[in-house]
Amino acid sequence: MTIAIETDAAEGERSLAKAMLNGVACRCPRCGKGKLYRAYLKVGDSCSVCGETLSHARADDFPPYIAIFIVGHVLVGWMLHAEMAGPVDPMLYVWTMIPAAILLPIVMLPSIKGAVVGLQWAFRMHGFAGKRAAEGLGSDQ
Ligand SMILES: [Zn+2]
Repeated sequence: MTIAIETDAAEGERSLAKAMLNGVACRCPRCGKGKLYRAYLKVGDSCSVCGETLSHARADDFPPYIAIFIVGHVLVGWMLHAEMAGPVDPMLYVWTMIPAAILLPIVMLPSIKGAVVGLQWAFRMHGFAGKRAAEGLGSDQ
């Protein structure tokens, strides 16, 4: 009979910046190689490369808030710049900013959600704490 002893060193230190950058690239926050999503914005159950359980991710509404914040600032800045440059045809807004307001969040959301999942993983939130917290040894619960 063998007894496996899990130590905190096995879990390792978790770099917030590295985990969030891996998430921005839509990769596993732990190894940065496996895919984070199994579909658009659907986080996979586990990483196919390192086996990290990813189903603990609870990003909820935070990624859309971030996307709205970023896109709102880009579009308002764009609109102010256009208005200060001179008279603007209102149809310019219809043909440029409405598609941008729809497409930019769609394009940005996977990376933003990946960064939020990476943040949750790095801070060991929502079950990302691993075996240590599951055994009652964690300090963040
Ligand atoms: Zn992985």
